[in-house]
Amino acid sequence: MLVSNWNNCPRVEAAMRSFRSQEEARDILGQTDRCIPRGLGRSYGDCSLGENIISTPGFRRFIHLDPAKGILECEAGTSLDQILSVIIPHGWFLPVTPGTSRVTLGGAIASDVHGKNHHLHGALGRHVLDLRLLTPQGHVLVCSKNENPAIFQAVCGGMGLLGLILSARISLMPLESVFIRQKTIPAYDLDELMSFFDSHHQSTYTVAWMDCLQRGRHLGRGLFMHGEHCRSHEAPQSQLIPPGCKGISIPFTLPFRALTPAGIKAFNSLYFHRKSRRTGYEISSIESFFYPLDALANWNLLYGKKGFLQYQFVLPRSTSRSGLQKILQHINSFGQPPYLAVLKLLGKGQGPLSFAQPGYTLALDFPIRPGVFSLLNALDRVVQKLGGRIYLAKDARMKKHMLWEGYPRAKEFVELKKRLDPENKLSSLQSRRLGLCQNPY
Ligand SMILES: Cc1cc2nc3c(=O)[nH]c(=O)nc-3n(C[C@H](O)[C@H](O)[C@H](O)COP(=O)(O)OP(=O)(O)OC[C@H]3O[C@@H](n4cnc5c(N)ncnc54)[C@H](O)[C@@H]3O)c2cc1C
Repeated sequence: MLVSNWNNCPRVEAAMRSFRSQEEARDILGQTDRCIPRGLGRSYGDCSLGENIISTPGFRRFIHLDPAKGILECEAGTSLDQILSVIIPHGWFLPVTPGTSRVTLGGAIASDVHGKNHHLHGALGRHVLDLRLLTPQGHVLVCSKNENPAIFQAVCGGMGLLGLILSARISLMPLESVFIRQKTIPAYDLDELMSFFDSHHQSTYTVAWMDCLQRGRHLGRGLFMHGEHCRSHEAPQSQLIPPGCKGISIPFTLPFRALTPAGIKAFNSLYFHRKSRRTGYEISSIESFFYPLDALANWNLLYGKKGFLQYQFVLPRSTSRSGLQKILQHINSFGQPPYLAVLKLLGKGQGPLSFAQPGYTLALDFPIRPGVFSLLNALDRVVQKLGGRIYLAKDARMKKHMLWEGYPRAKEFVELKKRLDPENKLSSLQSRRLGLCQNPY
């Protein structure tokens, strides 16, 4: 069958097998060479693609919820929206959530996903108490900070290359209401936008939308948003009802690209000015604050048949300002506007392949059209020179040297992989492209 991830690029012919029990998973892994786990395919690129895919969403039972302590154990194919529907009524929330709830727990751990609270709470791996890993040699290892700690660290962010995560126990965050008290502040240039992250460092959630089509004195103009969970007395209603709306859906890939540069320019301007007028606090639902894009199911199809690329990098704090400036200038000079640009501040990372490092991360969505690869190569040079790295869960095209320079602990990861997977059973198109499956140095 033809398979692609969220950005529809690349699309590859693959044999896909799914399982419902640990024994079935072990059989599939035992019988299949060159395979890779795949959750809900919400990564952008080829990290969960290869000729043989082990699909996990059928393996999604809840094992245990301790409603007093806020500890949840479930199988790795369970999606975050399924988890929310169970934990919210008990007064708990995910300690870290990405910008979509349609990902599996296993995929989120394997990518060590970050949310809008990374500067305070780290990535998801920090909240995993332990996990069960089916190794390529068929053993089940319990991994945690105390048991097999090096494997545990490397599996969080390890992109499915060390084994199949079967289940995990995570510690949850207490929740008093399903509402967020949020404020949007306009920033008229990059310095102002970045200064808001510093002045709101204590806010639980911070994020900014950037208008990348601005030049000159408005370069880096954007909207900074910060938010806190409402306490029960602040919320418009007290019931803990999980997000239920599945959103409207685009039924098929559009034969044309629905979003044009001119349309985006007009949208950016309208969006900036409309949002800038709202000066006070607003109360948002969990869905609209954390998962605004989930309201339009399959919005990825708006990019047309060729799909799109997401380019997400992080730069160290010391080089973030000059780096972001250069990146924005390149975008303008290449005439390739991204359709979405989201800026976040990250704290320290954990595993050898975990994306986070202290500094600013910018995620940019580019439609695939002539010239875009040249622009991304130019952006790579800026990121590389300034000590940054690219997020593996958002990568479909980076070259090997970017990985090896950006992730100084990659060698440690490959050594561990040689030990756990001497026959290189687990490999993705990405891992082969980046030299994570053999010894490239
Ligand atoms: C709209 C949108 C918003 C997003 N926002 C964010 C964000 O804010 N922050 C962020 O960090 N990410 C974000 N992402 C990326 C997304 O959270 C990650 O790519 C996530 O890993 C996808 O999970 P999945 O279940 O779809 O896994 P897949 O995309 O199928 O796989 C991702 C990786 O996990 C591995 N994997 C999957 N399951 C297992 C398993 N059981 N055992 C071992 N390895 C496994 C795969 O081999 C692959 O390497 C966003 C994605 C979208 C579409």
